[in-house]
Amino acid sequence: FVHQLADPAVDMRELLASPLWHESAPALPLPPALYGPARANSRGVDLSVPAMREPLLAALQDTALPQVPFFDAKLAASAYSTGADSYEKWSTTAVAERAACLRRGADALERELPRFCALLVQEAHKTWGDAVSELREAVDFLRYYAGEAERVMQPLELPGPTGESNTLRLTARGVWVCISPWNFPLAIFTGQVAAALVTGNTVLAKPAEQTPGIARAAVELLHAQGVPAGALQLLHGPGETVGAALVALPGIAGVAFTGSTAVAKTIERALAAKDGPIVPLIAETGGINAMLVDSTALPEQVTDAVLQSAFRSAGQRCSALRLLCVHEAVADGMIEMICGAARELVTGDPRRLSTDVGPLIDAQARDAVMRHVQRLHSEAKPLLPPVDRAQAAMNMVAPQAFEVARIGDVRQEIFGPVLQIVRWGTGELADPRAVMAQINALGYGLTLGIQTRIDSRAQALAGAARVGNVYVNRNTIGAVVGVQPFGGQGLSGTGPKAGGPHYLYRFCAEQTVTVNT
Ligand code: GLU
Repeated sequence: FVHQLADPAVDMRELLASPLWHESAPALPLPPALYGPARANSRGVDLSVPAMREPLLAALQDTALPQVPFFDAKLAASAYSTGADSYEKWSTTAVAERAACLRRGADALERELPRFCALLVQEAHKTWGDAVSELREAVDFLRYYAGEAERVMQPLELPGPTGESNTLRLTARGVWVCISPWNFPLAIFTGQVAAALVTGNTVLAKPAEQTPGIARAAVELLHAQGVPAGALQLLHGPGETVGAALVALPGIAGVAFTGSTAVAKTIERALAAKDGPIVPLIAETGGINAMLVDSTALPEQVTDAVLQSAFRSAGQRCSALRLLCVHEAVADGMIEMICGAARELVTGDPRRLSTDVGPLIDAQARDAVMRHVQRLHSEAKPLLPPVDRAQAAMNMVAPQAFEVARIGDVRQEIFGPVLQIVRWGTGELADPRAVMAQINALGYGLTLGIQTRIDSRAQALAGAARVGNVYVNRNTIGAVVGVQPFGGQGLSGTGPKAGGPHYLYRFCAEQTVTVNT
């Protein structure tokens, strides 16, 4: 049941068939990967087909995880000099040539799909389904930003008085620091780096400490497709030392960061404390993402959306659902259905095709999640079986759900498969706008799910929500590049949205040239 409804191609087919899509399609440089006829679904390969599955499983045997030594933070200044030396040539390379490197990178990633997916399974403990989706997202980022750079970097002739010409153009800014997370070690790493490079910047890339092997494979692939070694350097190590040293470099032109809100603020403070120019920060952080379900919502649709959003990728997505707000009239039945379906999910070894929920990234992540689970066992009503000790020893946490009394009780993001459920419909939560106000008051603003058959209510709630991505009557994860640009507001980040038409501007400086003719 869950697997059938989970097919992301369903959403995509509907979207492609919708008039809105056709109207906007010619204007958007969309990645052809979205249309690939060879794929069983638009986001990946169908693992139920042996011919598609077998190369992946074979790659797991053949692929060794690259070992990546720590970068010595004391050498940060010399890495910067290398980036600065490469800047002149790379930033004056024609945008079409830089875009071509990205497109060749996308083609190479597609050719190497089994190897990269095997790396994702080994190093990031992704399930095969998640690995394939992530690889597709990385490919989409490369092709999308290639097209976007060619679009936005065209000089714009502006109107002016007779005898004067005015041109607005975008230029690169300099050496960027890109700091990426372990939960999308290929897609987010590639997306940040591609955006900075294609606009003519050079990059010091610091991947998450847990996933350097995937980053190294991606960097080698881009170098092989024509990105100069000095334009893209991989500097692996802890955030506290290597990340901090890079952010402290006096000359850097900007920082792109995806990770926790706390670290984003640390970076912001470090940038502000330096002498010299004001350095832009693009931060994409976490969320306490909610889904609001009213009494008209379709229970099966809600169940599928909740399972996908809360438990897929073991809840290790910043878009993941953390707080489900269900109308009391339907709450009992809805909770029973969700918990019944959640019990069917298979938690286990990600290398097995049957696994729905793989392990958390490491023991530290498991301990952090388990501390919250223990707290919730004493503060809230548990709705699913407790975590199995033997599984927990392997960092596996089966889906957990708790009924909590108030929205305000949900104060912290729990980065794992833990769902908190609140009933609404009476008292201070009598109407959906009051629920929305309390969700807004949590201060985060990444994703929001709305489940209702009342269109005007969905529109009104979307309008009142201070979040970056609203999803009506579907799940809240798996934003597609160029289709659902991703990123939030408030504690969830600065914007602009990754995979959207405004993203590249932030990597550029703007210049007008006025000539008295
Ligand atoms: N873009 C991903 C999604 O829509 C989440 C990215 C993240 O977790 O950082 O699910």
